[in-house]
Amino acid sequence: MFRFARFSMRAFALCAAMLLPAAADAQCTFSNSSTPARSVLVYRFAVREVGDSAVLGVTLTFTGSTSGIDTIVVPAQWAGQRLHAIRNLHPRDADVRIDSIAGRGALVVRHTAAAPVDISYDVVKDWTGPLDHPYEFHPMIFSDYVEVTGANALVHPRADRYEPVIAHFDWTALPPSWTLATSFGTVEVGVGASADRCQTVIGTWSDIGDALYAAGEFRVRRFDIRDKPAVLAIRGTWPFSDSAVVAEIQRDVGAVRAFWHDDNFPYLLVTWAPFDRDYGSDDGSAFTNALWIFMSRKESLASQVTQLTHESFHTWDPGRMGAQVDSEESKLGWFREGFTMYYADMIAHRARLISLATAVERANRHLRSFAGSTDPYTRGDVIARWLDGAIRAHTHNTRSLDDVMRALVQSANQPLTLERVLATADRNLAPSDRKTLRDLLAAPGPVPANFSAGVLAPCVRVSLDSMYAFDAGFDVQASIAASRATGVREGSAAYAAGMRDGQRLAGASIYPGNPDKPAVFTVVNDSTKSRISYLPRGPVFAAPQLHVVDDSGAAQPVRCGR
Ligand SMILES: [Zn+2]
Repeated sequence: MFRFARFSMRAFALCAAMLLPAAADAQCTFSNSSTPARSVLVYRFAVREVGDSAVLGVTLTFTGSTSGIDTIVVPAQWAGQRLHAIRNLHPRDADVRIDSIAGRGALVVRHTAAAPVDISYDVVKDWTGPLDHPYEFHPMIFSDYVEVTGANALVHPRADRYEPVIAHFDWTALPPSWTLATSFGTVEVGVGASADRCQTVIGTWSDIGDALYAAGEFRVRRFDIRDKPAVLAIRGTWPFSDSAVVAEIQRDVGAVRAFWHDDNFPYLLVTWAPFDRDYGSDDGSAFTNALWIFMSRKESLASQVTQLTHESFHTWDPGRMGAQVDSEESKLGWFREGFTMYYADMIAHRARLISLATAVERANRHLRSFAGSTDPYTRGDVIARWLDGAIRAHTHNTRSLDDVMRALVQSANQPLTLERVLATADRNLAPSDRKTLRDLLAAPGPVPANFSAGVLAPCVRVSLDSMYAFDAGFDVQASIAASRATGVREGSAAYAAGMRDGQRLAGASIYPGNPDKPAVFTVVNDSTKSRISYLPRGPVFAAPQLHVVDDSGAAQPVRCGR
């Protein structure tokens, strides 16, 4: 599942760039802005082969301030990753000087007052080894394609999130055999003029900073989602067809747009590319007018249904719920990620894209690990489910969490704050539940006693079940890193099965979090291999669990949450 910090899907406008006559190495010529209130940024891109890898060369031009001093920001971290991908940053004019500010991740640019400032830099691949999570958050620079984001590759003058800007992007120097696919348009090889590789965006800094920029050897499929244009830019070979991916995106993203009764989209780009492994890793992320999906080469398409509904849901939560406030972001992780997780499953279930059994199984995983958890996905998923039930109980089923979510979109002229989320929920809650909601946010306590099946009743019942906690019995991460058993605890199931500190591990199979799947290890003692197998069970505890009692929702669509 995916973790993502910030995104927005604010309106943007495209305007045609004025061009020089076509030439072999034509450059875009962008008209001057007629709105001096907006800062104007011009990015030009080229790819150079360096040995068997590649470098994305970027030039940035902006109008310097009248003070002669500007601060520029160099991407140094994103999505929990430290980045070292920006190299060779330098001014292109002798009368511009760039100095670093110690420890601030920013640079000071001194220039002639109000003169254009020209900077160039390289974006390089700053990791080694196969492409796998979480390296997709680093600029992906290869000899056959590049895929970067505003957050990891665009050096820019310091700007507030909602500062109005005009950004021009010149992609004409990329290899002519490359497809261009960005948040602001897609151009296939051999289609359109080179003018189409000049993109202009009139919007806010967040539109550009939260955008996705890809180019290279992609196959392109154009299609509609509920009559709005969409593009799939896909790489790799898969156990399913490109057409099947298109159909899946139409169903999954369409279901989310139907939930919100909102089709206000100029365009959607979905990039789809493989991680360098067969199973077990995937990532989806949401960007301005775009999503990306990375997945293991042999996984099923069905594994991406809730990934697609999840990323689409972020368009509204938080994208269309009001201006995002930096100081509020860390307070709202449960609402942003956990509520999105809940709705990703419920919308997929309502639209019959996943079964009730699957939705229940996913809910139960969060319910099992809720008590004591500080994970915003787990916290928020369970809180959403509880809140929906509490609203339904208090309003005699006349209202639900859906009404709270839609009210937050309707009041998007106000900033998205914890206080506003709570106040909107409060309007549909009994006083005791208002207090419970605040308690749930204040401390990682257990699931509230009045937890109900909410929207899934009466096809699902809730019971308080006894179950085993997951306990591997040793330090799994340290052991795998050292290829030796480490931190084995006496009295654990691993110890009872014969595992001891220092044993060399020649093979391992364990399902973290699942106490009912056997953990199996091949250990080597004095060059003798042996097999250790046990159930990774800790103490017994109790947690609410959902159980399907009737999946006849197909016959009665209003039941079972449909
Ligand atoms: Zn998310």
